[in-house]
Amino acid sequence: MKAVILGPPGAGKGTCAKIIGEIYGIPVITTGDMLRAAVARMTPLGLTAKSYMDRGELVPDDLVNDMVTERLKESDAEGGFILDGYPRSPRQAEALERILKTSGKKLNQVLHIKLEDKTIIDRLSKRRSCPRCGAIFHLDNKPPKAKGKCDACNTELVQRDDDKPEVIKRRLEVYREKTQPLLDFYKKKGLIKVIRGDINLMDLPTTLKRVLNSRVRTKPHEQPQG
Ligand code: ADP
Ligand code: ZN
Repeated sequence: MKAVILGPPGAGKGTCAKIIGEIYGIPVITTGDMLRAAVARMTPLGLTAKSYMDRGELVPDDLVNDMVTERLKESDAEGGFILDGYPRSPRQAEALERILKTSGKKLNQVLHIKLEDKTIIDRLSKRRSCPRCGAIFHLDNKPPKAKGKCDACNTELVQRDDDKPEVIKRRLEVYREKTQPLLDFYKKKGLIKVIRGDINLMDLPTTLKRVLNSRVRTKPHEQPQG
């Protein structure tokens, strides 16, 4: 399994990626988490990335491409991987093709998670996470047992800096401008499979298995040209 998950912020890419990683026994490579870790450690990459992330802009392609190139060289990714949050622009998609080609590999699944804007904004603005263990809560749908505290480790929950309303708006614009074109790119390659972002968490593993095992409907000769 060499897969990419595409979808707007808040679609549930992380949740799906984690389940797929467990089903197939492959590492989940999440560029957002890698960048946030770099920011926390104040590495040169982190210091540069922070200003972009805080504004909801993409971190420059070259920086992210280098980071992913290095990550994919690690031995755990040899037998497969799932990329969450990458590629996010045409230049990143091209870079990924090159990276994989050098080791004779190719993507075999691109999962598109669909979700409407209203739900996205609700999810992101009410999302709270645990800075210690990474657990994620939602103020209405999955509230912590004790107000403001992580169920698992009792740490004070925080809101991601980029989950503030103005930044959410910009992230959605950036998704439309830069990332949505990738859907066409991968559709032409016959790789896209679609899943709704609002299906019940309990049904998610079964649905993911079914979708990933299904065959892509469009046959190559039925695909749009150009
Ligand atoms: P979401 O998908 O919910 O927006 P992420 O955690 O994937 O959240 O990304 C958060 C931020 O990290 C992005 O807004 C962007 O600034 C940066 N980032 C993550 N992945 C990439 C990438 N592939 N290319 C450029 N920037 C990225
Ligand atoms: Zn916790």
